[in-house]
Amino acid sequence: MILLISIREQARRELREILGKEYDVLALPDAREALKRMEERYEDVSVVITDLLETEKSNYELLHKMQESEKLRDIPVMVVCDRNMDGNLQIQAEGKCLEAGAADFVREPFVPGTVQNRVKGLIRLRESTAMLNILERDPLTGLYAKEFFFKKVEEYLSEHADQRFVFLVSDIQGLKVINEKYGFDMGDIVLNTMASHGIKHIKGFVFGGRIEGDKLAGLVNDHGIDEIVENLAENDAGTPYPIPNVIVKHGIYRIEPRLNVKPKGMYDRAMLALQKIKSQYGVYVAEYNDELRKDLLLKQMILGSADDALKDHQFKVFYQPKHDFRTNRTCGAEGLVRWMHPDIGFMNPILFISLFEQNGFITKMDFFVWEEICKTIKKWEREGIPLVPVSINVSRRDFEIPDLADRITALVDSYDISHDMVHVEVTESAYSDDPERITETVRKLHDNGFVIEMDDFGTGYSSLIALSSMDLDVLKLDRSIIENDKPGSEKNILEFSMQLAKMLNLKTVAEGVETKEQMERISQLGGDYIQGYYYSKPLPEEEFAKYLIQRNEKPAED
Ligand code: C2E
Ligand code: CA
Ligand code: CA
Repeated sequence: MILLISIREQARRELREILGKEYDVLALPDAREALKRMEERYEDVSVVITDLLETEKSNYELLHKMQESEKLRDIPVMVVCDRNMDGNLQIQAEGKCLEAGAADFVREPFVPGTVQNRVKGLIRLRESTAMLNILERDPLTGLYAKEFFFKKVEEYLSEHADQRFVFLVSDIQGLKVINEKYGFDMGDIVLNTMASHGIKHIKGFVFGGRIEGDKLAGLVNDHGIDEIVENLAENDAGTPYPIPNVIVKHGIYRIEPRLNVKPKGMYDRAMLALQKIKSQYGVYVAEYNDELRKDLLLKQMILGSADDALKDHQFKVFYQPKHDFRTNRTCGAEGLVRWMHPDIGFMNPILFISLFEQNGFITKMDFFVWEEICKTIKKWEREGIPLVPVSINVSRRDFEIPDLADRITALVDSYDISHDMVHVEVTESAYSDDPERITETVRKLHDNGFVIEMDDFGTGYSSLIALSSMDLDVLKLDRSIIENDKPGSEKNILEFSMQLAKMLNLKTVAEGVETKEQMERISQLGGDYIQGYYYSKPLPEEEFAKYLIQRNEKPAED
């Protein structure tokens, strides 16, 4: 379509006649109105023709506005030179128009063939830039498409090396939910609003890009981090979203020219900052720092070396004694994994368990650990070391294996180990993930003769009903209960937990007992077992065997 914008009546009539047979021609008298129409349907507009006579005001403005608009910048504009205009004036005006972005001129009186050819040329131009635009621009938001945006950032930064910028990534929380609740059209409107108001109205905004579905990025002048944070908050509050409770979060990377980070790396860094606050309530902006990067590199290294670690036997099991008050002896142990990493060194599970739970590797690792424990029990048996039961830890992810109970049973059987020598620890909070499946698996294991211990009791939210309907033998009271205990206080959680265990006929293991006072308190309250540094830290297998012999050789009343 060819748009004739605010052109004198006579010229309009002639142009319609020359171009009307081949093209759709639409005349719009008002430049502002025309801008609006074009913004809405910019893809349909092939060429704009406007008039030099009126250029002093509105038509210059039209050209400038079109240049400012990311969507309209590439629509070619042809300017008509009035036949009555003074020659010098005309040359001046043409210069101004060119500067303002006009693509071509046509002089009155019109020579139909010339006008047609010029328009044809411009349309070809428009089509080829439109083709480029498919790659350059995101059609929904009009922002640059990802790769093109990265290219532009690189160019712009090298052209403005004396200035400082930040790389911003903004993300709508729960766009999926918005799509589901209000429909995809609404999702698009929200995203578009975020682009046109949220992003572009940020102070110092240079240009922006759409990187992934709901992630928009921007290059912004660095006018001070506090100001940027403040500005983002104000801007978010002022953005006219059509539905309530749209939450946008931002990650910022302050570009450090010395480091020569590529735009993709800038994006990754801003994303790291964003991810850190994704689930933090009431925090909307985060700035990247090097700690985040180190964390990420460590995580990548951990995940990347997990398979090899398994093959190379880098995972070792340590054993932490459980102490029995009644007999004053070591009555069992918990098997706890450690990782002797060739580059990172000795690693506690806190560093890698949750990562392995996220990517599912935990299950491979757990089977390895359980097998190591079985081998060790067998070895102790061969060496005549007095046997005590050993607990294995079962991760929440392990329960996704449909025949978990059978597989654990088969493993223990393959080493010809009596089932009562193996205890199974399941963390309290896992029960709420998939109560039916977990309860069922635990029941099978219990029926097969394994002692079931509920781990970390006090950190989940078990109801009394749930607790009494599970096949449990032991409650392991979480360390936090012991640590935060205030003897004599009302509503004492430690005392309550002990009473609860008695009511449900369960034994208790108090975890993380470190001091004599804590030990005596547990003893007074009638606790059954203690596991904690007060007696011993987790020990390598041989040391544990020595500990066990020494401890259990002593007379019982010691
Ligand atoms: P958990 O099952 O609650 O294990 C008890 C943790 O408390 C152990 O940490 C142990 O070293 C620590 N601990 C014991 N006594 C004390 C004490 O007196 N004071 C203090 N401050 N800490 C004490 P660890 O070995 O670092 O293990 C952390 C967690 O990693 C374990 O918590 C468990 O959830 C998980 N984990 C360890 N090994 C495995 C495994 O083989 N498989 C799975 N799935 N998870 C494991
Ligand atoms: Ca445990
Ligand atoms: Ca525990």
